[in-house]
Amino acid sequence: MFNKAIPRRTFMKAGGSGLLALSLGPKFLVPEAKAQTSAEPKAEVGYTFCDGCNHVPFCGIQFQHQDGLITNVEPWQGYPATPICSKGYATMQRLYNPKRLKYPMKRTNPKGSSDPGFVRISWDEAYDSIIKQINRIKEQYGPHSVFFYAGDPKEPRAAIQRLAAVYGSVNYGCESSTTCRRSAMLAEFLTYGFGTMGNLPSEETKVMLVWGTNPAYSGQPHMCHGKLMDAKERGVKFIVVDPRITPTVSTLADIHLQVRPGTTAALAAGLMHVIFKENLEDKDFCANYIHGIEELKAYVADFDPKRVEKITDVPAQLIINAARLYASNAPGGLMTNAQATTHDLNACNNHRGLLMVPAVCGYIDVPGGITKPTNPLEGMAGPWANGPPKFSMRKQRLAWSEHRLDAKYYPVWAEKIWEIQGNHIVESINEGKLKAFLGWGLNLMIWPQSHEYMEAFDKLEFTMAVDYFYRPWTHSHVDVLLPAAMNYERLAPFAVFGRTLYARTPLKPQGECREDWRIALELGTRLGHGKTCFNGDPEAACNEILKMWNLTYDDLRKALPKGVTVPAKKPEAFEKHKKGVKFGTSTGKIEAVSEVLKKHGHPALPEYKETMPTSEEYPLILVSGSRIPYITHSKWRKDSPWLLELQTEPVLTLHPKDAANRGIKQGDKISLKTQWGQIEVVAKPTVLMKEGVVGMMHGWAKANINELIPRQFDPISGYPPFKDTPCQVVKA
Ligand code: SF4
Repeated sequence: MFNKAIPRRTFMKAGGSGLLALSLGPKFLVPEAKAQTSAEPKAEVGYTFCDGCNHVPFCGIQFQHQDGLITNVEPWQGYPATPICSKGYATMQRLYNPKRLKYPMKRTNPKGSSDPGFVRISWDEAYDSIIKQINRIKEQYGPHSVFFYAGDPKEPRAAIQRLAAVYGSVNYGCESSTTCRRSAMLAEFLTYGFGTMGNLPSEETKVMLVWGTNPAYSGQPHMCHGKLMDAKERGVKFIVVDPRITPTVSTLADIHLQVRPGTTAALAAGLMHVIFKENLEDKDFCANYIHGIEELKAYVADFDPKRVEKITDVPAQLIINAARLYASNAPGGLMTNAQATTHDLNACNNHRGLLMVPAVCGYIDVPGGITKPTNPLEGMAGPWANGPPKFSMRKQRLAWSEHRLDAKYYPVWAEKIWEIQGNHIVESINEGKLKAFLGWGLNLMIWPQSHEYMEAFDKLEFTMAVDYFYRPWTHSHVDVLLPAAMNYERLAPFAVFGRTLYARTPLKPQGECREDWRIALELGTRLGHGKTCFNGDPEAACNEILKMWNLTYDDLRKALPKGVTVPAKKPEAFEKHKKGVKFGTSTGKIEAVSEVLKKHGHPALPEYKETMPTSEEYPLILVSGSRIPYITHSKWRKDSPWLLELQTEPVLTLHPKDAANRGIKQGDKISLKTQWGQIEVVAKPTVLMKEGVVGMMHGWAKANINELIPRQFDPISGYPPFKDTPCQVVKA
């Protein structure tokens, strides 16, 4: 049963793993390709992109197919994001996994039963029951008591927002607005007035600050890390901030600041202290384009490197060296993280602190620094994953903002972010404000104290989920479960890279699976909005978007394997602030002092706060959510046995001294505990981990790390301390 087109050796090489010793032997699920003779028709070529990292779009896949079966996958040559990694190759095994959901199902046993008693139903019956329930709930409690949610993959976000709008609910959220990127984005909006995770270094860049991210493993490692390595060869210097010695640190760092988790704002204040003290700041930029620069200077004056060393564990001399290297080598770039520095109880101001370091150096909107795109694709506002606001009917939805479920908890968020902050769903359900939940790619393990969310979901009057596989920790709490088509079977959305657009060529879905866009649009159609929801047709919906650029899906299809570029209207420009273009903050400047935070009674400067002190009982700091190259979140383990072979057990990394102090050796079964819970894991002592810090990948159903994280939240962003919770480890 092994497909010769993807030798296992190729797959393992793409995994790039040192864990092959854990291999359990082959359990391949991919149907064997027929031997091809000259008399038989040749395989055809198709194109799609991978959803393995949950980004839209990501790596391009070119596949061959014959008789409706894929016989080979390989990187899509000429597409902006290639090659593909182990997960990309494994999408083929996932596609043909016999455990895939292939039919709509409904539960027959009451919520809370050990067996939900799911039985197969038709799409008509599924849709009828969903529409009947949400219409009843609208009638009884109002439309805002239904939550619409896009989890993993992100691809259906635009269609789900449109569905929420035609139904009449403001309450749409996604995994990014629950525990991922939006908290950092909130800090960026408050500080810079635009969203950015920084830039890859350009030819002009002299020095890079890489803070809390490990591009060698996370995101799109081969693209991003490869470009950083090229920059290093060109002579670009790197300062990497991370509590661990990651492959990014070992391959790139000229200076490694091995910071204690949760102390980002203190380290940033220490760097700025040195920059101001040694007159290394960009005086013109500080004076003219930073609001609150004098208050910031006064604040960081207290953060001399010796004091910062005590808070952050970073040696004072390294802080001085890093500040000098960064500020004296203009222009400097920044590459920061989606959420690592916001997974603590000082989330927003920690992230604001690090954003101010390049700002005081004047590295904003200069070639080689943090650039603001001059020519974003017309009609878009931010990343393509969210869809064009007009198509997503964002304005219509936000007209009902007084009904947002998050506004009373996080008013700053509700003012700046168009998606609902999803961490207080438990309270919304318990207060009777939320009655139904329609979730695509929903995962209840995403939340801290996940069991509280599971219990709360059982109290909802109706829950629907759309997914690839039955995931008991989530789907045992839903009423109707719908089977989603996978990336080889979806037409929508098309891919957008800058101003270049690419189509895909889907195959017929397995079983009765349907595209997630189609499900959202068909539900909207059955609600009586056939015209607005294109009578359920994803291609017609894509054409509605494409007409903004005078294109059709067919134009993109005909151009394959190339994309179609929408011409830019004006040349790229830098330092637009010098030509009168304001930053998108309330003062039109970079805000060291945030007027929005001040208005809402929060610290207006990026202040450091100690929020989760360790104790004798819990002397270590738990960092959860670190990436490994062959698993994303809770996906892939059972979806692709190829990938499960690479790591079969939940593993906790800890420093050898911390292990030795507890009599723990490599491979020992250990108990990891916090004040809030305890799980059993396997020990992996490694010098790559900082002393006093332990780390674990999230998403293991049998050892859910999020049960150890409290339901405590940063008062500005509402984010929990996934990366800063005191813990203890003992031999089991
Ligand atoms: S890096 Fe791997 S998993 Fe992520 S999109 Fe690319 S091929 Fe897929």
